[in-house]
Amino acid sequence: MKILVVEDEVALADALSEILRRNKYSVDTVYDGEDGLDYGLTDIYDCIILDIMLPRRDGIDVLRTLRKQHINTPVLLLTARSDVEDKINGLDSGADDYLTKPFVSGELLARVRSLTRRKGEVVTDAFEYQDIALNKSTFSLSRAEHYVKLSLKEYQIMELLIANPRQLIPKERFIEKIWGYDSDVEYNNVEVYISFLRKKLTAIGSQVTIKTARGIGYFLEGGTK
Ligand code: CA
Repeated sequence: MKILVVEDEVALADALSEILRRNKYSVDTVYDGEDGLDYGLTDIYDCIILDIMLPRRDGIDVLRTLRKQHINTPVLLLTARSDVEDKINGLDSGADDYLTKPFVSGELLARVRSLTRRKGEVVTDAFEYQDIALNKSTFSLSRAEHYVKLSLKEYQIMELLIANPRQLIPKERFIEKIWGYDSDVEYNNVEVYISFLRKKLTAIGSQVTIKTARGIGYFLEGGTK
């Protein structure tokens, strides 16, 4: 799951990103409306957390422009306590929900979960495909009683594969989703993690394999229940 945070109060933006990362979301953070719009238009996010009062372009304008460009990413607006007008305006402009500052992290996470669920994404602690299961709370990959721990990147790559079994996922998609839209990570980083995952699949004795579509990407195949 990938979240975009658009907030100009740097301390708040960084705190938000940190909370989300600790809860295993991938996060991109930008600090003004113009960047918020550019990033949002890439349409790679599962949710956008958008402040209203922003330099260069305000949040309502960012939201309206995204919706006009048919970007339907769920948007959680951040508002100040007094801005009733803003809330109404925001919801009218296509926001899915809003959160009043200050807020506690539990509330933020609950709103994000609810918004990403509404989009129809699989929100679960465990993914299963054929003989393997991937567990989000323990970061483990298992087959029957055999299991291995995964690193964060391994987990994120496996999650993308297992949530879309037998679908070819381009290398760019992994990079966008896991390292970030403007990261300078190389394609061979993806290859390295894929090779780690293949070893781990073998280690637990799974029949599932990660197939390579040469020059394009990867997909999950095989295995018996
Ligand atoms: Ca602000």
